[in-house]
Amino acid sequence: MSKIKVEKPIVEIDGDEMTRIIWAMIKEKLVHPYLDVDLKYFDLHIKRRDETDDRVTVDAAEAIKEYGVGVKCATITPDDDRVKEYELKKAWPSPNGTLRGILDGTVFRKPIMTKNILPAVRSWKKPITIGRHAYGDLYKSQEYVVSGPGKAELVFTSKNEMEDVRLTIKNFEGPGIVMGIHNTDKSIRSFALACIKYALSERIDLWFGAKDTISKKYHAHFKNVFSEEIGRHEQELKEAGISYRYLLIDDAVARIMKHEGGILWACKNYDGDIFSDMIAAGFGSLGMMTSVLVSPDGKFEYEAAHGTVRRHYYEHQKGRKTSTNSVASMFAWTGALRKRGELDGTPEVMKFADAWEHAVVGCIEAGIVTKDLMHLITPPIEKYEDTEGFMDQVRKRLDKSL
Ligand code: NAP
Ligand code: MG
Repeated sequence: MSKIKVEKPIVEIDGDEMTRIIWAMIKEKLVHPYLDVDLKYFDLHIKRRDETDDRVTVDAAEAIKEYGVGVKCATITPDDDRVKEYELKKAWPSPNGTLRGILDGTVFRKPIMTKNILPAVRSWKKPITIGRHAYGDLYKSQEYVVSGPGKAELVFTSKNEMEDVRLTIKNFEGPGIVMGIHNTDKSIRSFALACIKYALSERIDLWFGAKDTISKKYHAHFKNVFSEEIGRHEQELKEAGISYRYLLIDDAVARIMKHEGGILWACKNYDGDIFSDMIAAGFGSLGMMTSVLVSPDGKFEYEAAHGTVRRHYYEHQKGRKTSTNSVASMFAWTGALRKRGELDGTPEVMKFADAWEHAVVGCIEAGIVTKDLMHLITPPIEKYEDTEGFMDQVRKRLDKSL
């Protein structure tokens, strides 16, 4: 069989631990045998980031800017323990944070569904994608523990002719707490734009929820920026048959529980943190959750939503076979390939991505699964595949379908 030609390069970002093992297997078994593809390789192994003083992460982000499509393996975000474990110079920042910052991107998480894994919520028939604003609010705050009586104020000191502002937050009569949070128009607008780009790319409706009835300035500002950007893209959205809905966040949550899915739910930073975990649990397993970073100018980076599956890696190092779910990592590849095919106008590449996904879903629906899915599928099964065995089964199915 001749290989399928992928026109333009894909940026490949390698990672750590168990997912790195899976990554190499995927390439060996499912990428190279079928595709003639120019992979611009960046190794973000924690030691490599350490050696390059994290330059390699920045280079990878620049490459995605240049080529437009990337695929990334999970990576360690080092903490003090990791610094010791890997003898690092320091606790380098989260690579995903760095990529998000450079690409000014928004992360979309989408569950992979199969007929035999029933969502915990009966009405969910199609995937619910969460778009999480990944800047500001609670995550860039100043906090203060008030130990006794005093006045807390909100002070703004202008750098131009605007007047300074001083607002009383609270006259404390005793101990308490106070917090200051912020966001920027630039970031909110990028977020809204990335959500619109994603909804257009996936042809799904867009919801956004906030609490503007209570927060008449902060939350209302998000709502307003969103409606401005929606207004700017009205024609495009209309032509694609996509509707936009603003909801109060509590109403959004109530409606999500009764909705059939197939929508993009744009969430403020904190809401996205919480509800993405709720959605992930509701649809089954972290091993079945994909993630894509979309920049407002239309660059795409695909990955699995889970981490490096550390516990499994330690087992693997002891020479034991693991049963680690590679589905989300495989869907990172198919996502990147499909997008590449779409941008290059090469339907055969898109078809290959579809066939690969069908082979994965086909396996699961036939009861061929890794251990994490064993108790989630109906009817239940007795035996599960190991990491490599599952991939071999996917390959068998894929070969039959090509
Ligand atoms: P994790 O990799 O998400 O795994 C946590 C647990 O979830 C696993 O121990 C496993 O449970 C289950 N799990 C997750 N993915 C699975 C899969 N594909 N197949 C089977 N089971 C799966 O989180 P972690 O082990 O706590 O974190 C490891 C490292 O990942 C950390 O250093 C963190 O910084 C990094 N991380 C990276 C990213 C990223 O690059 N996007 C995201 C999150 C975390 P059992 O042990 O019960 O089998
Ligand atoms: Mg969370």
